[in-house]
Amino acid sequence: MQNRRDFLKTLGLGLGALAMPAVLRAATGPHVVVVGGGFGGATAAKYLKHWSPNLQVTLIEPNANYYSCVLSNLVVVNELNMNRITFDYAGLQSRYGVNVTQDRVAGIDTMAQTLSLASGGTLSYDRLILSPGVQFDTIPGLDTSKVPHAWKAGDQTLLLRQQLQAMPNGGNFVMTVPAAPFRCPPGPYERACAVADFIKRHKPGGKVTLLDANGDITAAKHTFSTAFNGIYADTIEYHTNVSIMGVDSNARVLTTNLGEFNADVLNVIPSHRAPDLVAQAGLSNAGGNRWAGVNPLSYESTAVANVHVIGDAQGTAQPKAGHIANSEAKVCADAVIRLLGGGQPLPSPKTNSACYTPITSNTASFLTGVFRYDPASGGMKAIPESLGEAASPTREYYEEMFDWAGNLFQDTFASG
Ligand SMILES: Cc1cc2nc3c(=O)[nH]c(=O)nc-3n(C[C@H](O)[C@H](O)[C@H](O)COP(=O)(O)OP(=O)(O)OC[C@H]3O[C@@H](n4cnc5c(N)ncnc54)[C@H](O)[C@@H]3O)c2cc1C
Repeated sequence: MQNRRDFLKTLGLGLGALAMPAVLRAATGPHVVVVGGGFGGATAAKYLKHWSPNLQVTLIEPNANYYSCVLSNLVVVNELNMNRITFDYAGLQSRYGVNVTQDRVAGIDTMAQTLSLASGGTLSYDRLILSPGVQFDTIPGLDTSKVPHAWKAGDQTLLLRQQLQAMPNGGNFVMTVPAAPFRCPPGPYERACAVADFIKRHKPGGKVTLLDANGDITAAKHTFSTAFNGIYADTIEYHTNVSIMGVDSNARVLTTNLGEFNADVLNVIPSHRAPDLVAQAGLSNAGGNRWAGVNPLSYESTAVANVHVIGDAQGTAQPKAGHIANSEAKVCADAVIRLLGGGQPLPSPKTNSACYTPITSNTASFLTGVFRYDPASGGMKAIPESLGEAASPTREYYEEMFDWAGNLFQDTFASG
């Protein structure tokens, strides 16, 4: 098993094995546009400028602040304040010279190499990097202003927290797990544990009903099955192979293949795909046309030239997670700089992923993995000996979780 401290050390060096690219010297270098200021996009924009200061880099993001999903389950259970997971783009702009534009990309013309902005403008690019995250599938009757998913952080996180706090003693917190792949493979099980811990301490007699679309726990199975069958045996009721037929958002009733579930708090997480922006540009050609197929040497689309897709929207076998989106962004930024300079991407990139998972209010577990390029398949493959999870949750891991997240936040948003 990979030593967890290796991940803390290597986070800022996702390209540990890669040489620094040469700095472009042109006074007005090529224009790289990055769409989406999350873990993938913010990291890509920062490292493009860090490694190639003369490049023109524009980051387009509709929101002034980014609310991190990483650690957001702790906000749901009131263990962490929202400001601990809130970031702005001032550091990217002032310290790295990224041109941050607050706008939404409405469409992409990949032939003309232009973007249209929701505000009405048009922007041209030499290379485009997309990291727009995910879009949720629709579920009949689901109104997320009443039944939050809290799977994009921000108002949704606060709404779920408010509903959990208002839940009566003995109440039923019903939550769903979407069919894989979804963002943060351990995330729903982590939320079930964090909420179960909250219920045990604050809502006597309450329970979590966890309805999983998958046939089994999809990540960190040892950690979560131990928790579900051990400390939470009386609090978490876990069902597999559950399909959702519809939601009564006012009455908080979920209709499934197992029957109806009445909830005091209902937390439905719909299945995901790459956003329409990606599909409409002709990029969603992987995973049943739900994700963008890319060449992981550069993250360039396999459908369209000069467009790269990283983070949750891309369709490689890597997990959809913030840590690895940060890692993919560095591989992509390096490759884009080399391609713009007339070179080729490096031939054997590696990426890594780590997730620390709170199991109670003072213990956490972790899950890690390293992926490398596999020339035979042209994809990224996990290095088997790097895959692992903690033997059991500890207080030490709970403390390390904040160091790990702090490093990831600082590296991504140039914060602090
Ligand atoms: C509860 C929870 C816990 C998690 N915990 C962990 C964890 O412990 N470790 C981990 O590694 N990962 C974790 N994750 C997963 C992680 O949050 C995501 O995988 C990560 O955010 C993906 O990064 P991204 O850049 O692809 O997308 P995002 O971070 O979602 O960023 C996408 C950005 O694109 C912007 N955007 C979208 N459309 C447009 C447009 N048309 N124009 C301009 N901008 C646009 C959005 O506003 C957003 O800011 C967790 C997720 C959840 C839900």
